[in-house]
Amino acid sequence: MDYNPSVSPAAQLGAKLPLPLKRLADLAYNYWWSWASDRIAIFQNIHPEEWQRCNHNPVALLEAVSFDRLTQVAEDPQYLKRLNATVTQFDRYMAEQNTWANRVAPRISIEHPVSYFCAEFGIHESLPIYSGGLGILAGDHLKSASDLGVPLVGVGLMYRQGYFRQRLSRSGWQEDYYVDNQFDRLPLELIRDPQGEPITFDLQVRQRTVHVQIWKAMIGRVKLFLLDTDRADNDPIDRWLTGHLYGGNQETRIAQEIVLGIGGVRALEALEIAPSVYHLNEGHAAFCLLEVARQDMQKTGKSFYDVEAGVRDRSIFTTHTPVPAGHDVFSADLMDSFFASYWPQLKLDREQFLALGARRLGDPWEPFGMTPLALRMTRAANGVSELHGQVSRKMWTVLYPRSTEDQVPIGHITNGVHARTWTAPLMADLFAQYFGEDWSRHVVDPQMWAKVEDIPAAELWERHLILKERLVAHTRLRVRNSRQNRGEDHWQIQAVDNLLDPRALIIGFARRFSPYKRGDLILRDFDRALRLLGDSDRPVQIVFSGKAHPADEEGKRIIQRVMEWCRHPSIQNRVAFVEDYDIFTAQKLVQGVDVWLNNPRRPLEASGTSGQKVCFNGGINCSVLDGWWCEGYQADANGQGINGWAIGEDAHTSDQELQDRIDSESLYRLLETEIIPLYYDQDAEGIPQNWVRMMKASIRTNAPLFNTDRMVADYVAKMYAPGVESIDPIFASVPL
Ligand SMILES: *Cc1c(COP(=O)(O)O)cnc(C)c1O
Repeated sequence: MDYNPSVSPAAQLGAKLPLPLKRLADLAYNYWWSWASDRIAIFQNIHPEEWQRCNHNPVALLEAVSFDRLTQVAEDPQYLKRLNATVTQFDRYMAEQNTWANRVAPRISIEHPVSYFCAEFGIHESLPIYSGGLGILAGDHLKSASDLGVPLVGVGLMYRQGYFRQRLSRSGWQEDYYVDNQFDRLPLELIRDPQGEPITFDLQVRQRTVHVQIWKAMIGRVKLFLLDTDRADNDPIDRWLTGHLYGGNQETRIAQEIVLGIGGVRALEALEIAPSVYHLNEGHAAFCLLEVARQDMQKTGKSFYDVEAGVRDRSIFTTHTPVPAGHDVFSADLMDSFFASYWPQLKLDREQFLALGARRLGDPWEPFGMTPLALRMTRAANGVSELHGQVSRKMWTVLYPRSTEDQVPIGHITNGVHARTWTAPLMADLFAQYFGEDWSRHVVDPQMWAKVEDIPAAELWERHLILKERLVAHTRLRVRNSRQNRGEDHWQIQAVDNLLDPRALIIGFARRFSPYKRGDLILRDFDRALRLLGDSDRPVQIVFSGKAHPADEEGKRIIQRVMEWCRHPSIQNRVAFVEDYDIFTAQKLVQGVDVWLNNPRRPLEASGTSGQKVCFNGGINCSVLDGWWCEGYQADANGQGINGWAIGEDAHTSDQELQDRIDSESLYRLLETEIIPLYYDQDAEGIPQNWVRMMKASIRTNAPLFNTDRMVADYVAKMYAPGVESIDPIFASVPL
C-alpha cells in the first residue's frame, strides 16, 4: 500500500540520518518499537533528555537531535550491534508468514481484512488521539492482532488537537486546554497517489462537500487509517470536524460520526480495500453500516432491504456502555438536517430510515440511536465482560419483542490488555529468566504462568521495590512541575522531595474521573481515612491521576475534593495527584503500585482494564465486583481473597447514598484488617512473604486470561471467522 515509497516520510527522514543509522527511520515510523524495552532504549539512548522533551516520539527525536550527536551514536559499535539486531528482528516480524492467524483462520486474507472502526485509539502517549479505556482497548487490540498475524486494518480519526489536556488551578479546579498535534512530526504518512497528490474522498456534511484525506500509522503489521478534514480546500468550519476528540455539542458529534462511519467506508474504497468484516468498536461508527448498504445497492441495483442481510453478514458490533444514557442518540431534527439527502440514496423514506435507529418503532419523534442501528444491522454483538453481556441483554430486550432476556443475541468477550505494552521491563526480564526467553509469545498459557511460583520471593520483591521507586520519582517530578506551573511557594516545591516513601504501602487510583467511578469514595469518612493515611508505623499512601470530561462539573468537583486532601497538613506527603493522565503515567502507576483500587458503582464498569495491567506487574487488585473483576477474583472456602480483594457485596441497591456507605465501609475494613496487616508483616529481610504469595497469585491467575492475545483470538474464533479452532496457546514462530 505504499503509494510513493520514494518520498515516504520514513525514507525522507532516513536520508537525513548518518548512514549506519538510516534504518532507525523505519523503526521510528512503526509503533512496533513501543512494545519492548530494548527497542525503546534504541531511541532513548540517543538523547535521554530530548527523548523526554519529545514525549517519547521517535520521529520528533530524530528531527530534533543534532547531526553531531547522531554521528557520535553512529560510531558506537555497541549501539550499532543493538540497532542491527533490532532491525533484523523487525524485518523478520514484518515478513513473517507462519503466524497464528494464518494457521487457524486462513480465510481472513490481507486482500479482505477485518476493518476495525473506533473513534479513539490509544497506541502510545506520543499519538494523543485517545481519551480513556475505549481507546486503550482499541490500541491493544491492534497490537495483538499484529502479533498474531490477524489481517486487520484500523479506521479512526486524526484529531488536530486530540483530547483535552489537564491542569489544576491552585483551588484544585480542572482547567482544560488543547494543544495542536504536529502531524509532520508524528510517525504518520499522508496517503498519496502515484503522482504524489493526497488521496481524498468527498462527503456531504451540512449541505456542504467536505474533502477528507487519510493518514496511515503503522502498528506492527497492522495499518491504522486516520481520517482528517483539516484541508485548505474545506470550509473553515469543516476543517474542525476532526478537531477534537469528544468535544463540542451534539451537532459536532453527529458530523464527526458521519466522517468516521460513512467516511471510513469511503476511505477503504478509495484505498481499494474490500474488508471481509466490519467490526464496530462501540456505536460511534455505526453509520458505516448505512454506507456499506449504499455501496452494495449501487453495485447490485438491489433495494436496501435486499442488501441488508449481506451487510449484516459482514458486520459485528462490540458495545461498551452499561447504561442507556451512555449510548449515542441523535434527535429526529438533527437526523433530518444531516441525512435528508442521504436516505433517498438508500431509497428509503424518512420513516423507514429513522426506524433503523429507533428503540421503539412507531414513534416518528423517537431519537435515533447508534446502538439500535448497530444491533439491527450486524450479525453478532458482544459486551466486554460476562456481567456486561448480561446487563446489555437486559437493556436491549426492548429491541427484540419476541425474545426473552437470555435470548437477546448479545454475547460477551471479556477485555484484556496487551501484555508486552504493559509489563514493566524489569518484570519482563524476570519472566524471561523463569519462563523462557519467548514467554511473551505464550501469555495465554496458564501452565507457563504457573511457573511464577518458582520465582524466589526476594527476587520478585526486589524488582517490585525498584518499580515503586520509579513510580515515586515520576510522581515527584510531575507534582513538582505542577506546583511550579501554579506558582506555588518555594517551600511547597521543596516539600516534593519528601512526597511518598517507596518502602511504605502505595495504593493507586487512576482513571477517568466520571462520577460513577467514585474517585473520592476512600475519603467518604474523612477522619477514618486520615487515621489510616496518617499512621506513623504503618502508613498508607495513595497516588491519584485522571481527567474529568470538560463538561462534567461533578467529576471536576471530585478532583477538587481529592486535591484538598492532598494539601491536608498531616498527610500531605502521603497523597499525590499526577496531572494530565496519559499512557506513560498509566504505565508508571500500574507497574509501581502495591494495590490497585477500583470502586465504581456496580454494574456501571463494563469491563475496566487498568486493573488487568497491574496483574502483569505483580500489583494486587482491590475492587468492587464489577466488570472483569467478577471473573478474575478468586476466594477460598472462607471467603478470603486468594488473588486480591473484593469491595462490598455482590448485590447492589439503587440507593446511591446507601451503596456508597456500604462500599466505603467495606473498603476501610479491608484496609484495616487485611491489606495493611498483610503488607507490613515483613520478615527479618524486610520481605512480606504472605504479600508476595498474593502477588504471585495475582499474576498466575489473571495474566493468562486478561490479555489481548486471548481476547483477539476469541474475536477471531467467535466473531471474525466463526468456526475456527479456538485458542492455540502455542503461538510458535511469531517473532514478537
Ligand atoms: C488503561 C487505561 C484506561 C482505562 O482504565 P479503566 O480502569 O478501564 O478505567 C484509561 N486511561 C489510560 C491512560 C489507560 O492506560
